Amino acid sequence: MKIAPISEELFQRAQHSIPGGVNSPVRAFRAVGGNPRFMVSAKGPYMFDEDGNRYIELINSWGPMILGHAAEIVQEAVQKAIPNSLSFGAPTRKEIEIAELIVDMVPSIEKVRMVNSGTEATMSAVRVARGYTGRNKMIKFEGCYHGHGDSFLIAAGSGAITLGVPDSPGVTQGVAADTLTAPFNDLEAVKTLVEANKDQVAAIILEPVAGNMGLVLPEQGFLQGLRDLCTKEGIVLIFDEVMTGFRLAPGGAQQLFGVTPDMTTLGKIIGGGMPVGAYGGKKEIMNFVAPAGPVYQAGTLSGNPIAMSAGMAMLQYLQGHPEVYTNLEQTTTKMINGMKQNMQELGMNFTINHVGSMFSIFFTEQPVTDFESAKTSDTAMFGRYFNSMLQRGVYLAPSQYESLFVSTAITDDLVQEYLQANREALQEAV
Ligand code: PLP
Repeated sequence: MKIAPISEELFQRAQHSIPGGVNSPVRAFRAVGGNPRFMVSAKGPYMFDEDGNRYIELINSWGPMILGHAAEIVQEAVQKAIPNSLSFGAPTRKEIEIAELIVDMVPSIEKVRMVNSGTEATMSAVRVARGYTGRNKMIKFEGCYHGHGDSFLIAAGSGAITLGVPDSPGVTQGVAADTLTAPFNDLEAVKTLVEANKDQVAAIILEPVAGNMGLVLPEQGFLQGLRDLCTKEGIVLIFDEVMTGFRLAPGGAQQLFGVTPDMTTLGKIIGGGMPVGAYGGKKEIMNFVAPAGPVYQAGTLSGNPIAMSAGMAMLQYLQGHPEVYTNLEQTTTKMINGMKQNMQELGMNFTINHVGSMFSIFFTEQPVTDFESAKTSDTAMFGRYFNSMLQRGVYLAPSQYESLFVSTAITDDLVQEYLQANREALQEAV
């Protein structure tokens, strides 16, 4: 029996007018098989599709909906802002207020520029780092994803690995030559690259907790080692906190791990669900951004009043409610413990990586510390598990190489419902 015939029909129809039927590749379910579900609404912990199926949500729009879907404080802020205009293309008080709030919350940020997506944030940050240092090269890590800017589509994670195109056609050799890559958690490899490219590396960019090859944590000393190296060599250290910003702590992974980068990129939660990104950092670097300085970066819709209102409501709430983070950690730990028990009882090989409200299950015995070890996971097993969970009304990221995100809307009852589905789906998938 088909449980989503309308979604199936819509997916067929979508192929005629949209490349691959979707506006972002991972949504097409290519890695896990089957048809994507077309959504109509979402509230709290649930999303509802065109066929009337209800799903417990563990993607939460790939991270932004940390308070669950349609959070009242955010919705009210948006509704209040709408009558005043959807866009001014001129400065507003709200932009100053959100900038001040971000400067207050994120340890490394002294000045910040708002943009419209995580991709814009990372592209811009690297341009500024190049302008500031007068150098061209950048080091990124295998399996880290920083959006779809040309220079990042080298050994990229997320949808790029999922589709098997970590190096995209369309990226010129010239651009690719300026992107150097190292394995995540391998400080020695980074030192060797820096030595071999003496005085040529403008920036080292990384997800301080990688979420785009599945969840991979930084090993003890890795972030601090990069910090020390960058300070010594005059390299701009950029933490891409598009996923981790405001999620792992009010001040992101840099607050949690106590390592301060020179620049930070933000997205997802910062817009409360609206399309927003931001990049910021030390004043002396950010003063290179036009019109304060010579590095050009602009945006017709940047600082959009509706998006700023949503983001402001979300960030103010998180700043005023630090218990959100301890509650999320507790909920997630209950889920992890329950899953471990399920998997042990079923005699399965697995590794679960977890920090705060982010986690990934890898179907491998090996510890997952970088892209190579992430790839030892049995992705066919993951696909079967994903589809079994979907049939049971749990919506996971449709790829092994993504993190899951828990929201505050997940109650203890839902944890039990989730664990029951997990147990049955694992039994079915082995
Ligand atoms: N950086 C990281 C760490 C991300 O996870 C993503 C998206 O998932 C991006 C950048 C790109 O953000 P966006 O999809 O908003 O362009």
